[in-house]
Order: sequence, then structure tokens, then C-alpha cells
Amino acid sequence: MATDLKSLTSNEFNDWCPGCGDSGIVLAVKNAIIKTNLDPHKTVIVSGIGCSSKLPHLVNVNGVHTLHGRAIPFAEGIKLANPELTVLLDSGDGDTYGIGVGHFISAARRNTNIKLFIHDNGVYSLTKGQASPTLPEGRQTKSLPAPNINGALNPLSLAIMSGYNFVARAQSYKVNELTDMMVKAIQHEGLALVDILQGCPTYNPEFTSAPWFNTHVKNLPSDYDGFVKDPTNNEEVNDKKLNAIKLLLSENPDNMHTGIFFQNEDPDTFENRLKKRNMPSPLSQKIMDQDGNPLTDIEPLLKSLEV
Ligand code: SF4
Repeated sequence: MATDLKSLTSNEFNDWCPGCGDSGIVLAVKNAIIKTNLDPHKTVIVSGIGCSSKLPHLVNVNGVHTLHGRAIPFAEGIKLANPELTVLLDSGDGDTYGIGVGHFISAARRNTNIKLFIHDNGVYSLTKGQASPTLPEGRQTKSLPAPNINGALNPLSLAIMSGYNFVARAQSYKVNELTDMMVKAIQHEGLALVDILQGCPTYNPEFTSAPWFNTHVKNLPSDYDGFVKDPTNNEEVNDKKLNAIKLLLSENPDNMHTGIFFQNEDPDTFENRLKKRNMPSPLSQKIMDQDGNPLTDIEPLLKSLEV
């Protein structure tokens, strides 16, 4: 049976607020699965905790709703255990860039082939709208008693500096553009980040509405080129990174861009590095005993650790 929107839609109740940008994001995820011909049985969506993290319940693929800030290591573990799976991750800005920021940075050092779709609305919406790490200083959202006293973290420049090879921004109310960005992230070999400016009409209505995004967020200039043509050319890689960071530094919260800021098709994924070390084959290829425990031959592993 062909995969279509109907077959990808689960029977679970969607309790997002009316007008929530998460609804556009879940539609884009389904569109991207269809456009990239992913087999639902070989696709996994991992999430952490937050409004956004309910997404795996709503899509008829494999899903894991994990712990606050810990979605990335779950996703990495799934990919390493069964590299045949396509692993997507949907979590929020509070989850990923707050408590999970250590995992967010370390993920770049490994470059596992997983795709991060981060729903970025500037607030911890599930717990009534406290300021998240991406809420700019001075902004007062609905449930803050005073303007935000903290400065904002820029997840895109942090990702580039950490070593991400696909760094993009999109927004939740432009579903077609968001779908295209997700497709490109899925087709990229290695770790990919799509930071999604997401509407939260309940707790951050002023700065995340569709009209606000339409006024303050525009596409990258047509002559901007963040794509590295020769990944072996360090000079080109560093120039492209520097350009992207300069552009991000020139932005302010009232003037942002969407598009791919930096892309480098570096095939040095964690999976490939493991293969080069002749590590034991992934868990999914192991024979199980009758209790479901993998019959793992640890000899090659011990040998690879010998000094
Ligand atoms: Fe969406 Fe905000 Fe409602 Fe959560 S609180 S469901 S993010 S609109």
C-alpha cells in the first residue's frame, strides 16, 4: 500500500491548541516522509518532553517519547543499533537548547546520521510559558511577570561552531517550505539541524504569529551560498562557516532569515567511523537467544580497544 497522508495519520487525539504551529510541523514531517519515499516500518521519530514532543504519537511510524533533554542520545542509540532506520527527532527549544544542550553540542562531534527538527517558540509551552533559552532579552511573553532578563542563545551559530554539517532555519506556518527543508535534511548524509520558528498562540502570541513572522522573517538573500563544494578543502569549509556566522550575527530578533545557512556533505559519519574500526555489526543484525538477548560476540570490540 502506498504511503500517503491518511496512512501516516494515527488515531491519537491531537491536544495542541488551535493555531499551534506544531500542526504545520507534523504535516510537514508527513509530507517529507512521503516525498523521500521512506518506509514507515523503517522510520523512527524520537522526541523529548514538551508540546512538540507529542508529535511521534500522531504519525504512523515507529516512535519513542523519551525524557526531557535526552532525545538526542536515544536517537543516536537507535541509529547505531539499526543503521537501516531513518531516525527523525522532534523536540522543543527548551528541551534541546536548555537541559539538552550538552547532548546538542556533543552530537556534532559524532555526526550520527539523525535529523533534528527543533520546534522553537521561545517558551516552555507545556509548563505554562516560562522563557526558554531562545527568548530574546527584554521580551515579555504572556506568563512572564517582567521582561526576560536573560540573553538568548543562537542555536544556529552554536551548531555551526560545534561542527554540524547541515544547519537550516524554517518556520512552521510555511508548510511547503518547511517540507522542502526537511526533505533536504533527510537527504543529507549525517547529522542535520532544522530550527523551526514555531507559532505558540497561547504563550508567545505576539512574537510567533504568522503575520509577525511574515514581517520579520525573510528568506536568505538569493546570492547567499552556504553549500561547501569540496569538503576536503578546509579553506572553503571555514570560509562558508564564517560567512554563515557573520550573517547570523547581523540578524536581530526582529530581523531573521530562513534557509540553509551551512551545508557540507562530509561523509565522515559516526557509523562510517565505526565501520572503519571493524567494530562488531549493529545490534539489529545480531542473532537473539530465545529470551531476546543478543548473542553478541564481544571479541572484535575488545580487540579494537587494545592499545
Ligand atoms: Fe502549541 Fe503553545 Fe498550545 Fe503548546 S501551548 S500546544 S506550543 S500553542
